[in-house]
Amino acid sequence: MGKRNIHATNFRKVLELFNENRGQEAEKLLKIIQEDYLDLYNENKELRTQIKEVADILDLAECMEFDGQKYWINEDVEKTGPYCQVCYDRDGVLIRLQERSKHWECYSCQNMFVKMPTGNVIHKSRPKKESKPPLRLFS
Ligand SMILES: [Zn+2]
Repeated sequence: MGKRNIHATNFRKVLELFNENRGQEAEKLLKIIQEDYLDLYNENKELRTQIKEVADILDLAECMEFDGQKYWINEDVEKTGPYCQVCYDRDGVLIRLQERSKHWECYSCQNMFVKMPTGNVIHKSRPKKESKPPLRLFS
């Protein structure tokens, strides 16, 4: 930061050098200012990218669901996953688990997650309504 503060005064220096007819020195200084500008530009771009990444992670964290062993992303429209709990907690990366017959497998850390008989099973069919027998008028 100190370096940048010093360079901020260079704008005035350039003007002074021009006024004193020291054009070549002024030009050199302008080059330095240009480099500073490019540095700041790149740093700014990098920070913007980082901010976006953090915002994305926060957005994501809001719709993350943990079923006791795996993560799911539950957005209003759809639920995706499951994702590896180990990889996410350790590295912050979402690795989609591969479905096998009796377990889910992470191709990244090779962890296996046994399918739970209940819990994360989503019952899609609604319990059937008991059909009432027709009213008997005569018995
Ligand atoms: Zn994993």
